Amino acid sequence: MPTSKTLFPFPIDGAFHPVFLGPVKAQWTSAAERKGFSLIGRAVDRLHVVLGCHTCGQPTLKRINVVRDHAPECPHCIAARRAEAARKMGARLIAPDPQGDRHYGVYEFACGHTGRRQHHRVERAAAGGHGLGCETCTEARHAAEAEARDWQLIGRARRRHPGYRRYAHTCGHRQDVAVANMRHGDVDCAGCGESWASKPSQIYLFDFTLPDLPVVKLGFSSNPSFRLRQVQRDPGQTQGKLLRAIPIESGHRAICIEKALHAHIRAHCPDLIVPPALFRGPIRTTSEIYHHHARSYIQALLEAVAAGWDPSASGSPDNAAA
Ligand SMILES: [Zn+2]
Ligand SMILES: [Zn+2]
Ligand SMILES: [Zn+2]
Repeated sequence: MPTSKTLFPFPIDGAFHPVFLGPVKAQWTSAAERKGFSLIGRAVDRLHVVLGCHTCGQPTLKRINVVRDHAPECPHCIAARRAEAARKMGARLIAPDPQGDRHYGVYEFACGHTGRRQHHRVERAAAGGHGLGCETCTEARHAAEAEARDWQLIGRARRRHPGYRRYAHTCGHRQDVAVANMRHGDVDCAGCGESWASKPSQIYLFDFTLPDLPVVKLGFSSNPSFRLRQVQRDPGQTQGKLLRAIPIESGHRAICIEKALHAHIRAHCPDLIVPPALFRGPIRTTSEIYHHHARSYIQALLEAVAAGWDPSASGSPDNAAA
């Protein structure tokens, strides 16, 4: 049986293909129907048929043995699914993989940078409501976080751990540090001995506007104004303000006081705690966030700390003042 000179009058998978003259077996048609396709005809050579997808209506070329023995897939439906997953995350699938792996593609992210991604990971991230992280932006953020701590990001860590990078201190010493520790300034320089634990710190109170919910955040940092910028995903929306910061002689002392203050509030006024589900999107934090009406109460606790009250010792600020 010959391949005809006649072409199918519509593009199939983006190209015009010749009709193959020959009978269509009933079992191929029924196999195609069972698997979600109409069998339109034979094409190209004795091995191929044209299927019409029941979901999207588009034609696709398949080998007969795939139709008969396997689960044929519609490339148009797959492409639409991937495009939709990318769109959900503000990204676009812009090209096939330059390395030729059909499981990968080149995506353009919301920030305008591009990167190679595995399609099914993109779809999984979209289904799970996760973002599509951009390495370029992530590294730029890590570099800025390091600069705020007097360190410089120089590249990959010596140790094989995705959470670490290599940094240079202002003294010239280089070492691996966990990205999360650098972000919070929890880093000791093994070269000159400067330590976050002994470095002066501050206890702060921030004010944020979540959608329909004003809140405050109590925490510690050696650099509250940097922390304020960094903790907000979209500062235009959350409009964070620093309400109060009190100096503490060391990072170690600050972390003890902060923990004790949270415990004090939890023990005396648990109603002030905002459930994490309400702030997890707009504010990057794992520690407690409180309702806005807790503001004056927490301010009073901070004033007591500034006046010498030690919340990590037992007792309330009133009887501790004695
Ligand atoms: Zn389809
Ligand atoms: Zn980017
Ligand atoms: Zn150093």
